[in-house]
Amino acid sequence: MKKIVGIVSTVLSACLWAFAPTAGAVQVFTTAPEWAALVREIGGEDVIVSVATTGLQDPHRIQAKPSLITAARSADLVVANGAELEVAWLPLVIRASGNAQIQPGRPGYFEAAAYVRLIEAPVLLDRSQGDVHPLGNPHIHGDPRNMLSVGRALAARLAQIDPKNAAAYSDRYKRFTGTMRASIAVWERDAAPLRGVPILVQHKVFSYLESWLGIEEVGALEAIPGVEPSGAHLADILARQAGNPARMVIYPAYQDDTPSRWVAERAKIPVVLLPSTLGGTPDASNLYKYYESMVRRLLDGLKSGGGARNGNSQAHD
Ligand SMILES: [Zn+2]
Repeated sequence: MKKIVGIVSTVLSACLWAFAPTAGAVQVFTTAPEWAALVREIGGEDVIVSVATTGLQDPHRIQAKPSLITAARSADLVVANGAELEVAWLPLVIRASGNAQIQPGRPGYFEAAAYVRLIEAPVLLDRSQGDVHPLGNPHIHGDPRNMLSVGRALAARLAQIDPKNAAAYSDRYKRFTGTMRASIAVWERDAAPLRGVPILVQHKVFSYLESWLGIEEVGALEAIPGVEPSGAHLADILARQAGNPARMVIYPAYQDDTPSRWVAERAKIPVVLLPSTLGGTPDASNLYKYYESMVRRLLDGLKSGGGARNGNSQAHD
């Protein structure tokens, strides 16, 4: 019995040790699963990562919960998306944390969108209309090449905060770029049939993915990003099917698919569910599988819609 108790206590202490913060590790508070994954790629065992949201939550609408304030209080670094994606909650959390290190402008505050060229900046912005993309489209992680530029800046920032491990951050970044570049080449080859394919989107969360793979977005069900589609706008989208017909409607896992289904049923095209980030669908279980799953789901959508019809391939070459 004594022996069993001894074994149990050894196992227990091993578990506790495994969950205890590694001494000296940089504590990183991330706002979304894709940034948590990138920090883990570059930070390795030198970071402890917390993530504020899951792949099933609407990233535009998060509550500033006490648990987030507690996590931010002990953070050495905040890694946010930026471009106002978290404007409704992150500034509140950071202020309430009372943590001077992570205030905007300090080395402990990092915004990914600062290292990427934003697309779809509104020409005329009227916030009263509820546009949730006032600075341009913030969903930059849809293009995996953006993970490389953000990753480079992140490696530099981690090195600044934790200089003794600078070489490790730089090495991991180099390894990450090698693996990611090789994966990108495979995804691009696999996704070749999607080039020039016209599609509809519910919310404009996949614009960077579309731009990377050469997919042609011919309409968004949300006329203004973040505002529920109106019946009149959906009818208009449907009427436009007579011209350049979309081959599928895509929507993110966190959204109610009713508008997508309404249009798809009438247009007789498939509805394709895509993970907007890691964990949005079960197959998007890590950073690499996230991109792989989006490509596969789009290809499946193309096939289920009847393969190559008009508006196909090579149109944008
Ligand atoms: Zn959005």
